[in-house]
Amino acid sequence: MGVQVAITVYAPNSETGDRACQAAFARIAELEDVTSDYRPQSELMRLCAQAGGPPVPVSADLLTVLTHALSLSERSRGAFDVTVGPYVRLWRQSRQSGVLPTDDQWRTAGELVGWEKVKLDTDAGTVQLLLAGMQLDLGGIAKGYALDQALAVLRGHGLPRALIHAGGDIAVGDPPPDRDGWRVKVAYAEPSQRWLTVANVGVSSSGDTEQFVEIDGKHYSHIIDPRSGLRWGEPILATIVAPDAMSSDSLATAAVVLGKEEALELVRAMPGVTAYVRSANE
Ligand code: AMP
Ligand code: MG
Repeated sequence: MGVQVAITVYAPNSETGDRACQAAFARIAELEDVTSDYRPQSELMRLCAQAGGPPVPVSADLLTVLTHALSLSERSRGAFDVTVGPYVRLWRQSRQSGVLPTDDQWRTAGELVGWEKVKLDTDAGTVQLLLAGMQLDLGGIAKGYALDQALAVLRGHGLPRALIHAGGDIAVGDPPPDRDGWRVKVAYAEPSQRWLTVANVGVSSSGDTEQFVEIDGKHYSHIIDPRSGLRWGEPILATIVAPDAMSSDSLATAAVVLGKEEALELVRAMPGVTAYVRSANE
Protein backbone atom coordinates (compact mmCIF):
# COMPACT_ATOMS: atom_id res chain seq x y z
CA MET A 1 0.00 0.00 0.00
CA GLY A 2 3.06 2.21 -0.06
CA VAL A 3 2.86 2.95 3.67
CA GLN A 4 3.98 1.34 6.87
CA VAL A 5 1.31 -0.50 8.83
CA ALA A 6 1.59 -0.56 12.62
CA ILE A 7 -0.49 -2.81 14.88
CA THR A 8 -0.92 -2.17 18.59
CA VAL A 9 -2.66 -5.04 20.33
CA TYR A 10 -3.25 -6.27 23.88
CA ALA A 11 -2.53 -9.99 24.24
CA PRO A 12 -2.13 -12.33 27.19
CA ASN A 13 1.40 -13.19 26.01
CA SER A 14 3.74 -12.33 23.15
CA GLU A 15 3.28 -15.64 21.36
CA THR A 16 -0.48 -15.12 21.00
CA GLY A 17 0.10 -11.51 19.97
CA ASP A 18 2.74 -12.39 17.37
CA ARG A 19 0.64 -15.13 15.83
CA ALA A 20 -2.39 -12.85 15.54
CA CYS A 21 -0.34 -9.98 14.07
CA GLN A 22 1.26 -12.25 11.50
CA ALA A 23 -2.18 -13.39 10.39
CA ALA A 24 -3.39 -9.77 10.24
CA PHE A 25 -0.41 -8.70 8.11
CA ALA A 26 -0.97 -11.70 5.84
CA ARG A 27 -4.58 -10.59 5.32
CA ILE A 28 -3.38 -7.08 4.39
CA ALA A 29 -0.89 -8.54 1.90
CA GLU A 30 -3.65 -10.67 0.40
CA LEU A 31 -5.82 -7.58 -0.06
CA GLU A 32 -2.96 -5.71 -1.72
CA ASP A 33 -2.90 -8.47 -4.33
CA VAL A 34 -6.60 -7.77 -4.91
CA THR A 35 -6.76 -3.97 -4.90
CA SER A 36 -3.36 -2.57 -5.92
CA ASP A 37 -3.12 -0.44 -9.05
CA TYR A 38 0.69 -0.64 -8.99
CA ARG A 39 0.84 -4.42 -9.38
CA PRO A 40 -0.02 -5.42 -12.94
CA GLN A 41 -1.14 -8.86 -11.74
CA SER A 42 -3.51 -7.64 -9.02
CA GLU A 43 -7.11 -8.72 -9.37
CA LEU A 44 -8.07 -5.08 -9.95
CA MET A 45 -5.62 -4.69 -12.84
CA ARG A 46 -6.76 -7.98 -14.39
CA LEU A 47 -10.32 -6.68 -14.21
CA CYS A 48 -9.30 -3.40 -15.87
CA ALA A 49 -7.55 -5.34 -18.64
CA GLN A 50 -11.00 -6.70 -19.53
CA ALA A 51 -12.68 -3.28 -19.63
CA GLY A 52 -15.04 -2.97 -22.58
CA GLY A 53 -15.81 -6.69 -22.44
CA PRO A 54 -18.54 -8.76 -20.77
CA PRO A 55 -19.11 -8.98 -16.97
CA VAL A 56 -16.17 -10.52 -15.06
CA PRO A 57 -16.53 -12.69 -11.93
CA VAL A 58 -14.64 -11.08 -9.02
CA SER A 59 -13.70 -12.02 -5.45
CA ALA A 60 -15.97 -11.20 -2.52
CA ASP A 61 -13.38 -8.64 -1.34
CA LEU A 62 -13.31 -6.72 -4.61
CA LEU A 63 -17.09 -6.84 -4.83
CA THR A 64 -17.42 -5.45 -1.29
CA VAL A 65 -15.04 -2.55 -1.93
CA LEU A 66 -16.62 -1.67 -5.28
CA THR A 67 -20.15 -1.86 -3.85
CA HIS A 68 -19.17 0.57 -1.11
CA ALA A 69 -17.35 2.85 -3.57
CA LEU A 70 -20.30 3.09 -5.95
CA SER A 71 -22.74 3.75 -3.16
CA LEU A 72 -20.58 6.67 -1.99
CA SER A 73 -20.30 7.92 -5.58
CA GLU A 74 -24.05 8.11 -5.71
CA ARG A 75 -24.39 9.80 -2.30
CA SER A 76 -21.59 12.28 -3.02
CA ARG A 77 -22.96 12.99 -6.52
CA GLY A 78 -19.76 11.83 -8.15
CA ALA A 79 -17.23 13.58 -5.90
CA PHE A 80 -15.89 10.18 -4.84
CA ASP A 81 -15.29 8.08 -7.91
CA VAL A 82 -12.90 5.13 -8.28
CA THR A 83 -12.99 5.45 -12.08
CA VAL A 84 -10.62 8.44 -11.76
CA GLY A 85 -7.71 6.15 -12.75
CA PRO A 86 -7.06 7.83 -16.15
CA TYR A 87 -6.90 11.26 -14.44
CA VAL A 88 -4.64 9.92 -11.69
CA ARG A 89 -2.27 8.54 -14.36
CA LEU A 90 -2.05 11.97 -15.98
CA TRP A 91 -1.43 13.50 -12.55
CA ARG A 92 1.39 11.00 -11.89
CA GLN A 93 2.95 11.82 -15.28
CA SER A 94 2.82 15.52 -14.41
CA ARG A 95 4.49 14.80 -11.11
CA GLN A 96 7.33 13.15 -13.03
CA SER A 97 7.60 15.66 -15.87
CA GLY A 98 6.60 18.90 -14.17
CA VAL A 99 4.32 19.62 -17.14
CA LEU A 100 0.53 19.73 -16.95
CA PRO A 101 -1.52 17.46 -19.23
CA THR A 102 -2.86 19.13 -22.37
CA ASP A 103 -6.59 19.84 -22.68
CA ASP A 104 -6.76 17.05 -25.21
CA GLN A 105 -5.16 14.50 -22.90
CA TRP A 106 -7.45 15.63 -20.15
CA ARG A 107 -10.55 15.35 -22.33
CA THR A 108 -9.60 11.87 -23.60
CA ALA A 109 -9.02 10.66 -20.04
CA GLY A 110 -12.35 12.17 -18.97
CA GLU A 111 -14.26 10.07 -21.48
CA LEU A 112 -13.24 7.00 -19.46
CA VAL A 113 -14.21 8.47 -16.08
CA GLY A 114 -17.65 8.11 -14.50
CA TRP A 115 -18.97 5.71 -11.88
CA GLU A 116 -22.10 4.97 -13.96
CA LYS A 117 -19.80 3.12 -16.36
CA VAL A 118 -19.24 0.41 -13.74
CA LYS A 119 -21.96 -2.25 -13.58
CA LEU A 120 -22.06 -4.45 -10.50
CA ASP A 121 -24.14 -7.58 -10.17
CA THR A 122 -23.89 -8.54 -6.52
CA ASP A 123 -26.01 -11.69 -6.96
CA ALA A 124 -23.88 -12.98 -9.82
CA GLY A 125 -20.67 -11.62 -8.23
CA THR A 126 -19.61 -9.86 -11.42
CA VAL A 127 -18.31 -6.46 -12.48
CA GLN A 128 -18.49 -4.98 -15.94
CA LEU A 129 -16.49 -1.95 -17.03
CA LEU A 130 -18.38 -0.54 -19.98
CA LEU A 131 -15.54 1.16 -21.89
CA ALA A 132 -12.20 -0.25 -22.99
CA GLY A 133 -9.36 1.68 -21.35
CA MET A 134 -11.17 2.34 -18.06
CA GLN A 135 -8.83 2.29 -15.05
CA LEU A 136 -10.10 1.87 -11.51
CA ASP A 137 -8.11 3.40 -8.66
CA LEU A 138 -8.94 2.21 -5.15
CA GLY A 139 -6.33 4.49 -3.51
CA GLY A 140 -9.06 6.36 -1.61
CA ILE A 141 -10.82 3.35 -0.09
CA ALA A 142 -8.86 0.05 -0.17
CA LYS A 143 -6.55 0.88 2.72
CA GLY A 144 -9.49 1.44 5.05
CA TYR A 145 -10.99 -1.89 4.04
CA ALA A 146 -7.66 -3.66 4.60
CA LEU A 147 -7.40 -2.20 8.11
CA ASP A 148 -10.97 -3.28 8.94
CA GLN A 149 -10.16 -6.78 7.75
CA ALA A 150 -6.90 -6.91 9.72
CA LEU A 151 -8.80 -5.86 12.82
CA ALA A 152 -11.31 -8.64 12.18
CA VAL A 153 -8.45 -11.16 11.97
CA LEU A 154 -7.13 -10.02 15.38
CA ARG A 155 -10.65 -10.32 16.76
CA GLY A 156 -10.86 -13.84 15.31
CA HIS A 157 -7.70 -14.66 17.27
CA GLY A 158 -9.46 -13.51 20.44
CA LEU A 159 -7.64 -10.15 20.54
CA PRO A 160 -10.22 -7.40 20.00
CA ARG A 161 -8.30 -4.67 21.91
CA ALA A 162 -6.28 -3.27 19.03
CA LEU A 163 -5.39 -0.21 16.98
CA ILE A 164 -4.04 -0.42 13.44
CA HIS A 165 -2.46 2.58 11.80
CA ALA A 166 -1.37 3.06 8.18
CA GLY A 167 -0.63 6.50 6.78
CA GLY A 168 -3.68 8.69 7.24
CA ASP A 169 -5.96 5.83 8.27
CA ILE A 170 -6.56 4.26 11.68
CA ALA A 171 -8.86 1.37 12.61
CA VAL A 172 -9.55 0.87 16.31
CA GLY A 173 -11.21 -2.07 18.00
CA ASP A 174 -12.20 -2.50 21.63
CA PRO A 175 -10.59 -0.14 24.16
CA PRO A 176 -7.37 -0.97 26.03
CA PRO A 177 -8.02 -2.71 29.39
CA ASP A 178 -9.60 -0.41 31.96
CA ARG A 179 -10.08 2.41 29.45
CA ASP A 180 -13.10 3.88 27.67
CA GLY A 181 -11.32 4.01 24.36
CA TRP A 182 -8.18 4.84 22.40
CA ARG A 183 -6.99 8.43 22.44
CA VAL A 184 -6.72 9.86 18.93
CA LYS A 185 -5.77 13.43 18.09
CA VAL A 186 -7.61 15.25 15.32
CA ALA A 187 -5.30 18.02 14.23
CA TYR A 188 -7.99 19.96 12.35
CA ALA A 189 -10.61 20.05 15.11
CA GLU A 190 -11.23 23.01 17.42
CA PRO A 191 -8.59 22.92 20.19
CA SER A 192 -11.14 21.81 22.80
CA GLN A 193 -12.25 18.89 20.60
CA ARG A 194 -8.84 17.77 19.41
CA TRP A 195 -8.48 14.65 21.57
CA LEU A 196 -11.07 11.97 20.93
CA THR A 197 -11.59 8.79 22.94
CA VAL A 198 -12.78 6.20 20.47
CA ALA A 199 -13.53 2.48 20.16
CA ASN A 200 -14.68 0.36 17.23
CA VAL A 201 -14.39 3.09 14.60
CA GLY A 202 -12.26 4.16 11.67
CA VAL A 203 -10.49 7.53 11.73
CA SER A 204 -9.08 8.81 8.43
CA SER A 205 -7.42 11.98 7.29
CA SER A 206 -6.98 13.22 3.74
CA GLY A 207 -5.70 16.44 2.36
CA ASP A 208 -4.43 18.37 -0.58
CA THR A 209 -1.29 19.31 1.33
CA GLU A 210 -0.03 15.72 1.60
CA GLN A 211 0.77 15.06 -2.03
CA PHE A 212 0.70 17.59 -4.83
CA VAL A 213 2.50 18.73 -7.95
CA GLU A 214 3.60 22.35 -8.09
CA ILE A 215 3.53 23.88 -11.56
CA ASP A 216 3.81 27.61 -12.20
CA GLY A 217 3.34 28.24 -8.50
CA LYS A 218 0.04 26.33 -8.34
CA HIS A 219 -0.44 23.16 -6.32
CA TYR A 220 -2.24 20.33 -8.09
CA SER A 221 -3.60 17.81 -5.62
CA HIS A 222 -3.43 14.01 -5.86
CA ILE A 223 -7.10 14.10 -4.98
CA ILE A 224 -8.98 14.83 -8.15
CA ASP A 225 -12.41 16.33 -8.69
CA PRO A 226 -13.90 13.85 -11.19
CA ARG A 227 -16.56 16.39 -12.11
CA SER A 228 -14.20 19.17 -13.16
CA GLY A 229 -10.69 17.70 -13.40
CA LEU A 230 -7.50 18.67 -11.60
CA ARG A 231 -7.89 20.40 -8.26
CA TRP A 232 -6.02 23.50 -7.34
CA GLY A 233 -7.12 26.60 -5.47
CA GLU A 234 -7.97 26.31 -1.82
CA PRO A 235 -6.33 23.26 -0.20
CA ILE A 236 -8.71 21.27 2.00
CA LEU A 237 -7.91 19.02 4.95
CA ALA A 238 -10.41 16.52 6.31
CA THR A 239 -10.62 14.00 9.13
CA ILE A 240 -13.54 11.60 9.37
CA VAL A 241 -14.62 9.35 12.22
CA ALA A 242 -16.95 6.58 11.02
CA PRO A 243 -18.18 3.15 12.19
CA ASP A 244 -15.48 1.44 10.08
CA ALA A 245 -12.26 2.43 8.32
CA MET A 246 -13.48 1.73 4.79
CA SER A 247 -16.15 4.39 5.40
CA SER A 248 -13.80 6.88 7.06
CA ASP A 249 -11.13 6.43 4.37
CA SER A 250 -13.48 6.99 1.43
CA LEU A 251 -15.41 9.78 3.16
CA ALA A 252 -12.18 11.67 3.96
CA THR A 253 -11.23 11.61 0.28
CA ALA A 254 -14.76 12.66 -0.71
CA ALA A 255 -14.72 15.48 1.85
CA VAL A 256 -11.59 17.00 0.30
CA VAL A 257 -13.31 17.08 -3.11
CA LEU A 258 -16.55 18.45 -1.70
CA GLY A 259 -15.11 21.12 0.59
CA LYS A 260 -16.40 22.02 4.02
CA GLU A 261 -20.05 22.90 3.48
CA GLU A 262 -20.93 20.03 1.18
CA ALA A 263 -18.90 17.52 3.18
CA LEU A 264 -20.72 18.38 6.39
CA GLU A 265 -24.01 18.19 4.51
CA LEU A 266 -23.10 14.72 3.17
CA VAL A 267 -22.24 13.19 6.55
CA ARG A 268 -25.15 14.78 8.39
CA ALA A 269 -27.42 11.94 7.24
CA MET A 270 -24.89 9.23 8.10
CA PRO A 271 -25.25 7.65 11.54
CA GLY A 272 -22.05 7.52 13.59
CA VAL A 273 -20.07 9.73 11.22
CA THR A 274 -18.33 12.96 12.28
CA ALA A 275 -16.42 15.18 9.87
CA TYR A 276 -13.72 17.74 10.65
CA VAL A 277 -13.00 19.77 7.54
CA ARG A 278 -10.75 22.78 7.23
CA SER A 279 -9.18 24.93 4.57
CA ALA A 280 -5.39 24.80 4.88
CA ASN A 281 -5.40 28.60 4.52
CA GLU A 282 -7.67 29.08 7.54
P1 AMP B 1 -6.67 9.35 0.30
O1 AMP B 1 -5.23 9.55 0.59
O2 AMP B 1 -7.31 8.25 1.07
O3 AMP B 1 -7.46 10.61 0.33
O4 AMP B 1 -6.76 8.83 -1.20
C1 AMP B 1 -6.22 9.57 -2.27
C2 AMP B 1 -6.13 8.66 -3.46
O5 AMP B 1 -7.45 8.35 -3.93
C3 AMP B 1 -5.44 9.31 -4.64
O6 AMP B 1 -4.04 9.13 -4.57
C4 AMP B 1 -6.05 8.55 -5.80
O7 AMP B 1 -5.44 7.29 -5.91
C5 AMP B 1 -7.49 8.33 -5.34
N1 AMP B 1 -8.41 9.42 -5.73
C6 AMP B 1 -8.10 10.67 -6.18
N2 AMP B 1 -9.20 11.40 -6.38
C7 AMP B 1 -10.25 10.60 -6.09
C8 AMP B 1 -11.68 10.77 -6.12
N3 AMP B 1 -12.24 11.93 -6.47
N4 AMP B 1 -12.45 9.70 -5.76
C9 AMP B 1 -11.89 8.52 -5.38
N5 AMP B 1 -10.57 8.31 -5.32
C10 AMP B 1 -9.75 9.32 -5.66
MG1 MG C 1 -9.18 8.20 1.89
